[in-house]
Formats: sequence, C-alpha cells, structure tokens
Amino acid sequence: MILIFIGPPGSGKGTQAQVLSKKLNLPHVSTGDILRNAVDSDDEDNKLVQKLMSEGKLVDDNLVNKIVKKFLSKDEYKNGCILDGYPRNLEQGKFLETVTKNIVVIYFNVSEDVTIKRILGRFSCAQCGKIYNSYYSKPKEDNKCDICGSDKFIYRTDDNKESIMQRLKVYKAETFPLIDYYSKQKYLYTINTDRDIKETEKEMLDICTKASYTKLQN
Ligand code: ADP
Repeated sequence: MILIFIGPPGSGKGTQAQVLSKKLNLPHVSTGDILRNAVDSDDEDNKLVQKLMSEGKLVDDNLVNKIVKKFLSKDEYKNGCILDGYPRNLEQGKFLETVTKNIVVIYFNVSEDVTIKRILGRFSCAQCGKIYNSYYSKPKEDNKCDICGSDKFIYRTDDNKESIMQRLKVYKAETFPLIDYYSKQKYLYTINTDRDIKETEKEMLDICTKASYTKLQN
C-alpha cells in the first residue's frame, strides 16, 4: 500500500513521514528531497529545476512522474512506501493511477498562518535529516542534533516569505482540485495538523490502521 501525504507546505508531512516510516517500517519517498538532491549537479536541466524550486513553482509534471515511476519500480518499495509531496495536481494523480491503484491518501489540513510560521522556523540536521523548528521543536541541547549529535544544520533556500506565498498560491490552484478529486473516492482521510506533533502522530497511526483494515476488507 502506498500512503500518500497531501497538504500545504509546512503542514507536517515530512515530520510525520519520518516517524511513521520507522513505526510502520515503510520507506519514505519525498519528491522535494529527491529534487533537492538531484539539483546539486551543474547541468542545464538541473539549473532549471533549482530555479523553479527556489521560486516556489512546480517542477515539470513529466519529469516528476518519471522520477516517481522509477522509484516505485524498485524492489525496496514493492511492499509500499510513504509518498510525500506527490502527486500535487490532477495530472500527476491521473499518472499515478497508471502505475498503481493501491493507494491511501492522507490530507494534512492546517491553517495558513500556522504553515507560514512553521516554514519560517524550520531547519534540519545536515547529517541524519531530523527536522526541527526554532518556534516549536528545537534540539534539546543548543546546536546539537538529538538523534546523531551533529552540530551542522540546514535551512532550505526556498523557506523565505516570498517563496512560501508562491507555494501556497500554487497549492491552492493545483493541489486543491486533486484533494477534491480524492475526496470523492473512498480512500481520502483528513487529519487536522494544527496541533502538537505527538497528538498528530497518534491520530496518524490510528488512521493508518483503519485504512489498511478497510483496504483488506475490499
Ligand atoms: P513543501 O511541501 O514544503 O513546499 P517539498 O520539499 O515537498 O516542500 O517541495 C519543494 C519543491 O520541490 C516544491 O516547491 C516544488 O518546486 C518541487 N516539487 C516537489 N514535489 C513536486 C511535485 N510532485 N511536482 C512538482 N514539483 C514538485
């Protein structure tokens, strides 16, 4: 089963995916992370991807579809995965249906002002990827990762006010119609992620148990 996480930037998809991936033993596939890693090299296509990402615009559907299809065909994902950041529009959603129908969609519903604050405060460990937030969830000790002890942290270049407003605009225009599409099917579950990380985590686990049970029944 593929668990799809849909929600605005800053809704907690990445944070929950990290936790759930360990608890359910499902690999985490984030198209944002894949694209960020791919743009380290210097070729022209990568430069365009980098530009689109830093401006908060979507990367070309064909490219992202191709990447996701390639990932999902790997052996390590044959028992499923958590797909975070894909699909983001109807075209990608329709494409995914040609790859697999075994999906459950979890919609992270959160207010706009909370997402903005979360994005402006977020950073992650450069070594193990653990996500933190300077307003809500700092490392226990200053400048030291709780998980691996590293003192190197990364701030995403697209986490600035201008790019955030653009990403929210794209989200409303492109992703809302997809959520509407999924809400008409049986496999959309909505979770309110305005709350505390632990509360969200508990509800996520309940939803996943319910979703896999419902899938088994059908
Ligand atoms: P967020 O959800 O916080 O905006 P992500 O890490 O999921 O962050 O994505 C960062 C950027 O990567 C997006 O703004 C977009 O440019 C690109 N991206 C990620 N996933 C997709 C996708 N499915 N389709 C097109 N572009 C994508």
